[in-house]
This record gives sequence, C-alpha cells and structure tokens, in this order.
Amino acid sequence: MTPARVTGTPGRTRVLVAGGGITGIAAAHRLRELLGPDAEIIVAEQSMRLGGKIRTVDFAGRPVEAGAESLLAARPEAIDLARAVGLGDALVHPSGLKPALSLGGELVDFPAGHMMGIPGDPADVAAIANAKERPDTGLPILGPGQDLSVGELVRARLGDDVLDRLVAPMLAGVYAGDVDRLSVRAVMPQLAAALEHHARLTEAVQEIKRPATGKPVFATVDGGLERLVTATSAAARAEIRLGMTVRELRQTAAGWEVVTGPVPDPVKVTADAVLLAVPAKPAADLLRAVAPEAAAALSGVAYASVALAAFAFDRIELPERSGFLTPASEGKTVKAATFASKKWPHLGRRRQIVRVSMGRLGEEALLQHDDATLAKTALRELGEHLGQRLPEPVEQRIDRWGGALPQYAPGHNARVAAAREALARHRGIAVAGAAVDGVGIAACIASGRAAADQIAASLPPVTEK
Ligand SMILES: Cc1cc2nc3c(=O)[nH]c(=O)nc-3n(C[C@H](O)[C@H](O)[C@H](O)COP(=O)(O)OP(=O)(O)OC[C@H]3O[C@@H](n4cnc5c(N)ncnc54)[C@H](O)[C@@H]3O)c2cc1C
Repeated sequence: MTPARVTGTPGRTRVLVAGGGITGIAAAHRLRELLGPDAEIIVAEQSMRLGGKIRTVDFAGRPVEAGAESLLAARPEAIDLARAVGLGDALVHPSGLKPALSLGGELVDFPAGHMMGIPGDPADVAAIANAKERPDTGLPILGPGQDLSVGELVRARLGDDVLDRLVAPMLAGVYAGDVDRLSVRAVMPQLAAALEHHARLTEAVQEIKRPATGKPVFATVDGGLERLVTATSAAARAEIRLGMTVRELRQTAAGWEVVTGPVPDPVKVTADAVLLAVPAKPAADLLRAVAPEAAAALSGVAYASVALAAFAFDRIELPERSGFLTPASEGKTVKAATFASKKWPHLGRRRQIVRVSMGRLGEEALLQHDDATLAKTALRELGEHLGQRLPEPVEQRIDRWGGALPQYAPGHNARVAAAREALARHRGIAVAGAAVDGVGIAACIASGRAAADQIAASLPPVTEK
C-alpha cells in the first residue's frame, strides 16, 4: 500500500520524536522550550499509553508504581523537570529507612558509605567477607579511557565474597544484570573517573561518596510517577500519536521521511529532524539503512527482563527497613523487595504494600509463568526472607517487563560515542534514552534534553526556511 503522506506546515519546523517514554517526553518538552510555540513537535508512541517503563496503577486504593518507583534527587534533572511542569509541591521523599541484605534467612545491614555495594572502608571488606583489599601497587586502577567489568574490578581488588554478597545484589536490583558483563565506565562513571588516580578501590569509593548533606537522595511524585509524564507532555504541547510505530527512516534533501503506523495502514511523515528515544533494538533497526555503524553499535546492547509482584496486606509485621536485596548465591527467584508503605510515607500505612522483584539476566523464561505461579513463588520466598508465614494478601498483581533493562557491557560508552560520531554526519538526527545514556529516570531526562539541544542546534532558524 502507498503510504499516506503527512507533510509539515510551510515555515514551521517539525520534529518527530520516536518513543513516548520519559526520554521522548522530556525531549519534546525541551524542544518546545528551544523552538518556540510555532514548532510542530510530534511524539510517535508505539503502545497505547505514554510513559514506557513508568506506569502508575491503582492498587489497594493507592497509586502504586507498576514499573519505576523513584527519582534520583541527588542529581538535578528529574527534580528540576518536576518543578518546571508544576509538580514541585507533589515531590515527596522516602522515610529514610535503609534496605537490608538478606543472607542465609537473616536481614543484615549494608555497610555504611558504600557505592553500589562497594565498601569505602577496608574494615567493612573484612567484616563482610573476612577478605582483604589487594595491596596498593602504586598505580592507578584504570588507565585513561580503559574499561572493565564491575565483576573483574571488584573480584580482583576486594575478592569474590564482596562481589557476590554486596555488589552483585545491588546491581541486580538496578540492572537485573550480570556483574561480569556490566561496564564500570557506564554504570559507575564517577567511580571510573576516580579510579584513574587511585590505586585502592576503597579510596576511590571514599572520594566520590558525598558527605551526607541531610538532603534526601531519592524522591517520587505523590499520586504516582506517571503524573510526571502527563504533566511534562502537557507542558510540551506536542502532538501525541499513540499506537504509532516508527518503522522506517529515510534522509531527504529537505530533512527526513518517516514511515510510521501499522503495517496495513502506513503513514509517511516528513520532518526536519528525528529524535530516537526508543530501546536499542528498534533504534538499531531504524538506523540500519541510514548509519549502519550506529546501528551496529546499538544492536549489541542486551536487555534483561524482570517481573514485579505487588501485595497488599491488612495485617503484617514488616521489619523497620525499606526492603531487602539478596545475592544470586542464595538460590532464590526473588532478588529484591521494597516495603513500599514503609519506604514511602505518603502511601499511608492503612495497608502494607510490598513490591517483590524477580528475574536476572538470562532468566527470561521466568516471565512465561502465569500470574498465579509468579505470585505464589514471590509470596513463599518473601515469607522465607522475612522468617514468617505471611497472611493472605488482600490484593496482588503481577507486572512483566520483558527486555526492559539495558546491559552496558565494557566499552559501552566508547561504542555510543562512535555511534554518535556516525550520526553526526547526518543532519537532524539524534538518539537518546536508557539504551545509550543510563537507565535511571534522571539520566534519561538529561539524555532526552541533550538530544533536543543537539537537534535544535542543527536546524536552520525558522525565518530562513
Ligand atoms: C521494573 C523497572 C523498575 C525501574 N525502577 C526505576 C527506578 O525506581 N528509578 C529509576 O530512575 N529508573 C528505574 N527504572 C529504569 C527506568 O524506568 C527506565 O530506564 C526509563 O524509564 C526508560 O525511559 P526511556 O524513555 O528511555 O525508555 P522507555 O521507557 O522504554 O520508552 C521507550 C518507548 O518507546 C516506545 N517504542 C519502542 N519502539 C518504538 C517504535 N518503533 N516507534 C514508536 N515507539 C516505540 C515504547 O513503547 C516505549 O514507550 C526501572 C525500570 C524497570 C523496568
């Protein structure tokens, strides 16, 4: 079928953003700031909702997160965006309770002053593992630009026990990843920079651990993180097209032709520029004909899948913790749990809400189990971790996030830089989002905004058109 053509209004700049997750929406918002009220900004989103990995649901009478649950407040982007779109008063912070480590059926404290589970104090290394830090060679641990996996780094410097019992559970909580396949430069960029002038890993951790400012490190939005997506989208005044898959890109003398829409009913959209805020696989597919080097770099990004179970209990005694993480060596399906109603006071304590996370890289088959089986496993193991027989939950739900968490292998940053160099040869195209610049929401917002800046800089001033 010949695609229907949709062209822009003469004299008006048109930018198409592919992907309506937080990256695409934050990019659209920034494009509006930069291009002014007349620009046409289209967000093409394949699914029937905005938000991507951000999804708030009504659960046990409360707005509860079915995907991402918190914003990093220690860096400015997410908080600044929330304030800019009118949600400053809705920002709320966690109770300050700490997560525990579940080891051998007991909940124990993480060492204070760690960075993603890597202790900053050699005494904590000895305490957890009866291990010792490798002696100082006098040489910096990383050369300029050198990269290695978190597994290689921690195993060599602090030993297997610190890696397996502290660092791996932390990284599994964020990336659901394999420590031997996660790049230090990509997942801990500040630590990588410090390792260029430290010969001891604990000293590098001490350098970057900020002294406690008393300010909360995390935040969320009362009413749910999806409010951030909705408010940002409204402020962007973009044309949101749901159910619109971007399937092909072609560069033309005037800009870009984008084939979107369902296969039987395609629509061709022309645009001055295109911003890709989609996961690595669709981004690579779209770029294959335009910039094959960029496509090759992106197609190498693997993804891990996770399943979340949420339970609401009327009567349950939970420890005074925000939740727990557990090492793979404990042999459990559950890798982490959040005691949501203890962690987030704004949720209230009328009912206790617990979110349980299952699935590490390579455990995709887990997602094939039906909801009842996943819920049963999660509940049984939760009871084992807590050392108690749990009451029947009053409500439960399962959310599957297939291929949701990108895995940055060693050399990721260099591959992304090379992809961007290849794209720079084509005017008006940029990539952004969790596939390239960091999985956290704050990092995605920063990435979307930076890509919008780059797109805006590449466009001719409107008066010249
Ligand atoms: C279970 C879970 C918990 C998490 N918890 C946290 C947390 O607490 N804090 C935190 O900071 N981060 C968390 N994260 C990570 C964070 O949520 C994500 O990395 C981030 O939201 C990704 O945003 P994005 O816009 O880059 O990608 P996505 O959210 O994946 O959005 C991409 C969008 O592109 C669309 N799309 C794909 N292909 C096409 C196409 N061809 N055409 C058009 N549209 C397309 C998709 O439908 C999707 O909506 C979590 C992630 C998961 C899965």
